Amino acid sequence: MDKKDICIYCEGEIDLRSIRTRFDFKGKTIYVDNVPAGVCSTCGEHYFDAPVCEQLEKIAKHSDLIKKTVSFPLAEYNMAIP
Ligand SMILES: [Zn+2]
Repeated sequence: MDKKDICIYCEGEIDLRSIRTRFDFKGKTIYVDNVPAGVCSTCGEHYFDAPVCEQLEKIAKHSDLIKKTVSFPLAEYNMAIP
């Protein structure tokens, strides 16, 4: 991805970063770390190059090979706080 790409939503500048992304595949949520992506510096929209999308798709199809399962606290926005 060209560094001077412009966000299609807000026309902000897109920076190249290594991010953690999540996506849903056949009802399963999959998280992938260290994904090379373009991130809009203004609105935070993520952009993936075609080879990156292909790799993410491959990972999803072979999700049984994923070795690490991470669990983390997930709050409900409306949770009761004393
Ligand atoms: Zn943007």
